[in-house]
Amino acid sequence: MTYSPVVEPVEPQAFAVTDLSAAAEFKTEDFDAYVMNTYGRFPIAIAKGQGSTLWDTQGKSYLDFVAGIATCTLGHAHPALINAVSEQIQKLHHVSNLYYIPEQGELAKWIVDHSCADRVFFCNSGAEANEAAIKLVRKYAHTVLDFLEQPVILTAKASFHGRTLATITATGQPKYQQYFDPLMPGFDYVPYNDICALENKVADLDEGNSRVAAIFLEPLQGEGGVRPGDLDYFKRVRDICDQNDILLVFDEVQVGVGRTGKLWGYEHLGVEPDIFTSAKGLAGGIPIGAMMCKKFCDVFEPGNHASTFGGNPFACAAGLAVLKTIEGDRLLDNVQARGEQLRSGLAEIKYQYPTLFTEVRGWGLINGLEISAESSLTSIEIVKAAMEQGLLLAPAGPKVLRFVPPLVVTEAEIAQAVAILHKVIATLI
Ligand SMILES: *Cc1c(COP(=O)(O)O)cnc(C)c1O
Repeated sequence: MTYSPVVEPVEPQAFAVTDLSAAAEFKTEDFDAYVMNTYGRFPIAIAKGQGSTLWDTQGKSYLDFVAGIATCTLGHAHPALINAVSEQIQKLHHVSNLYYIPEQGELAKWIVDHSCADRVFFCNSGAEANEAAIKLVRKYAHTVLDFLEQPVILTAKASFHGRTLATITATGQPKYQQYFDPLMPGFDYVPYNDICALENKVADLDEGNSRVAAIFLEPLQGEGGVRPGDLDYFKRVRDICDQNDILLVFDEVQVGVGRTGKLWGYEHLGVEPDIFTSAKGLAGGIPIGAMMCKKFCDVFEPGNHASTFGGNPFACAAGLAVLKTIEGDRLLDNVQARGEQLRSGLAEIKYQYPTLFTEVRGWGLINGLEISAESSLTSIEIVKAAMEQGLLLAPAGPKVLRFVPPLVVTEAEIAQAVAILHKVIATLI
């Protein structure tokens, strides 16, 4: 039987929601009575979004410089994403990986054509993508470097790699590990951007049947305080990996997919990873994760790894819409220009309050403003005050404000966000 389309593509306008009267009935008590208490939630509920603007259930609007934590790449209600998922769900939304999924193949090809990777594995989140990378490293160590009985994965202090047991172990921050012992064996930690510490650790671990199998790093540490990787450091890391048969793995879950003004964070560092992971921004807010690798370390065989939802047609259609829009609308140019505009606005704030702020740092549209250790002000206090004034920000640790707006943010919106922040700081000091 040949395939003939029976559904007409839908008009996205048909879904535009303007009546928020039902949302206004929302009560936080009705939520807290049923949903586990795993987040310190702010006392607003979001009802609607458009571009870089969100509206809460009371009708108050906010400039969204959180974007679902660097996830809503195209902002809210973008027509390309609406059309892609609307068409796909009417055609086919899910089918098992027991069969070939054309959209998955097309998304993998796009990623391979636009990165250093040769192969892609799809899953549904950042933690899962990192789990897949950890499994791939271990299988590579056991089968290709078969003298290794205890492969060790080195990660950085202050890193963040997810909330599963393996990825909280990989995460070099004790606060995420507390209460969840025993952690996963086979991980060790080094300070970020410190080449001597890394060289010493690699040498120390090269004994008996234990050895470093992979160095696992973020090109820019997101949750750990928006800390960009140092170019000289990463070049030396690549050399160390090449000289010692160590795999280099990059966690691009937060910085990949155009967030930094380049498609992948590693493009800022002048080195290529052997394996890298993506998730947050990849499908613009539709759940997806991906683990990419070069051909030489693609050692998975049928039965080694799997995911029920991973790479389903719906998520992959969303991913394709996001990537093609980034390319077709030249969004990387916007990310670079708006990023520079934002950093110069933040630098002015730092200049105006030299004892309050110590540094502005970031790439493209992932930026941090660091609050002085001497100041009693915390990031969360500024985030709360900014929210009241209609600007959503996310902390990256107790002393760093993080700015990760949608990649479609406009010049006027950046200017407005900086103006709001000026006002907020003036009221706080
Ligand atoms: C958010 C994040 C993760 C975890 O992603 P989830 O989708 O929440 O599992 C992993 N690594 C980095 C760098 C992240 O920012």
